[in-house]
Amino acid sequence: MTYREWMTLGTERLQAAGIEEASLDAWYLLERASGISRSRYYLVQKDPFPEEAAEKFQKLLAERERRVPLQQILGDTEFMGLTFLVNEHVLTPRQDTELLEELALKNLQCRTSPARVLDMCTGSSCILLSLLKLVPGLTGTGVDISGEALKVAVENGKRLQTEASFLESDLFEKVEGSFGLIVSNPPYIASEEIPTLMEEVRDHEPIGALDGSADGLEFYRRLVREGKEHVKPGGWMLFEIGCTQAEAVMELLKNGGFLDVYVKKDLAGLERVVGGRRPKQEERNDV
Ligand code: GLN
Repeated sequence: MTYREWMTLGTERLQAAGIEEASLDAWYLLERASGISRSRYYLVQKDPFPEEAAEKFQKLLAERERRVPLQQILGDTEFMGLTFLVNEHVLTPRQDTELLEELALKNLQCRTSPARVLDMCTGSSCILLSLLKLVPGLTGTGVDISGEALKVAVENGKRLQTEASFLESDLFEKVEGSFGLIVSNPPYIASEEIPTLMEEVRDHEPIGALDGSADGLEFYRRLVREGKEHVKPGGWMLFEIGCTQAEAVMELLKNGGFLDVYVKKDLAGLERVVGGRRPKQEERNDV
């Protein structure tokens, strides 16, 4: 069988398994199995597909048919133009989260002196490590409750040649000191919605990175309550949120004494990021 015939077969198998982007996914798997580039494929498509590659391709297809996310099969994915290792212990970095990243970047670029950043629930550490790559002089810590997730984070930190530090902790339990910016994309899906998620997410991404308790808001409550003393006066907290949670999370920040509380929509028009500023010393009559 030729390259092209295998590509067709792969696409058909994934289509039959109900995979939405069947031909795109088949291409990525074929590329990984055979090691050829897209342009090379067009040159060799009528040549016989090497046996070893065919065997590998079939294994990869079988994984995708089981609904293992493409990124977990490939072992890496892109976020902010950088490559991050991923596995079943970390949430796959999503394009949605690039809005939080952009707002964090703007926030840091407005400052006169370099800030220290804390990324709470860091997972693969895509948020923190991209910030460290993009903002010269920035230092930062990534925190996660999962030691397995932190192994991925540490490896990503090494590969991207950053000086991030990491800490295993249940939210702020072991965190010391204060930060100019705390960012977080915490678990925020209401427990009863978990069964309705796509199979890829529900069955293959870590539940601990998704489940935000009964109403999905538990982590925001704790982030504000336990985290506010760790924000430097005048510093910021920025969170990614689920698209129906803006009002509730803004309220939590306001009740926690934060000022300039705002929400920002993503390109799809959905409310996606909420932020607030801890008052400076001279503004602190009510906190
Ligand atoms: N910070 C990571 C991300 O945004 C993981 C988030 C999480 O585990 N909830 O991809």
